[in-house]
Amino acid sequence: MIRTIRRILSRTTEEPIVECRHCGVNVEPEADSCPGCGSTEIASYDIAS
Ligand SMILES: [Zn+2]
Repeated sequence: MIRTIRRILSRTTEEPIVECRHCGVNVEPEADSCPGCGSTEIASYDIAS
């Protein structure tokens, strides 16, 4: 039963959090570089897992 609930939750929170490691601004998941500072060090956090 718990597994079923987890599946539903992971569906709604499917989008990973993607942010610049340099300035910490949120960027588009498909972005290669930060629109704010131009850094290519993009970190993505998968909150579903
Ligand atoms: Zn940045």
